[in-house]
Amino acid sequence: MTSFQNALLIYFLALVFGIGAFGWSKEGHVMTCQIAQSLLKPDVAEVVGHLLPAYAKGDLSSLCTWPDQIRHWHKYHWTSSLHFIDTPDDACSFDFSRDCHDQHGLKNMCVAGAVQNFTSQLLHYKEGTADRRYNMTEALLFLSHFIGDIHQPMHVGFSSDEGGNTIELRWFRRKSNLHHVWDRDIILTAAADYYEKDMSLLLQDIEANYTDGVWSDDTSSWTNCDDLLSCPLQYAGESIGLACKWAYKGVQPGVTLADDYFDSRMPVVMKRIAQGGVRLAMILNRVLGADAEEGFASPT
Ligand SMILES: [Zn+2]
Repeated sequence: MTSFQNALLIYFLALVFGIGAFGWSKEGHVMTCQIAQSLLKPDVAEVVGHLLPAYAKGDLSSLCTWPDQIRHWHKYHWTSSLHFIDTPDDACSFDFSRDCHDQHGLKNMCVAGAVQNFTSQLLHYKEGTADRRYNMTEALLFLSHFIGDIHQPMHVGFSSDEGGNTIELRWFRRKSNLHHVWDRDIILTAAADYYEKDMSLLLQDIEANYTDGVWSDDTSSWTNCDDLLSCPLQYAGESIGLACKWAYKGVQPGVTLADDYFDSRMPVVMKRIAQGGVRLAMILNRVLGADAEEGFASPT
């Protein structure tokens, strides 16, 4: 193959498999959406089933990585800044008006703005299909994906290292970078070490933790959020806090991260996946339910 063909092949593979630092790995997004779908009220589950294309066979999680797959398409190129937030180095805080913009300074173009926007769009579902400004299926898939991303601590990271993407290091013996450690390496190492690589067993453990395990007392506080459009601000703030406290802590370029880092960070990753799922369900239940909220959201 020529190098051009090689480049094409790599680009194609990247499109198909979502290779690259695009958010929680496929596994993280799938678990977030599986948790959410299991917590939908019956009438909301029905609406979600209706919005999904037939080939999804009613499984929201099968399309939760779709926004990563299409972000390189010309039509969707505008969505690529919606997967993350760059915050000032070492500030360890998120400020919507300071931080939520794309690289050209366009306001609201970050993952918190995206969650707000697609939440608002879904609030129009009850008005029927007359409003052609909104594609409800896309809004559902984008919201489901971006709720996952906003819970990945390194998706709200420092500007100069692009959320850890430029911090190259080793994960055990393999080359990786800090962003990818949090997107995927911790999840896959957990699956391999404790669950015989069976993601459904890992998911069962996460679910057991919030139903009657270590987090069961916390879940009502996870869904505490009066004004739906303010929820993502809180979630992004938590993520940069965790990024500073756990992800960046003690990490220098070139370091080898192994058991100590894995053991102490794995619970953080599992909890963020659980929180993302529980909160996605809360938002969908409030936005799409029969007693859904009315009136406060305006089109953005
Ligand atoms: Zn993403």
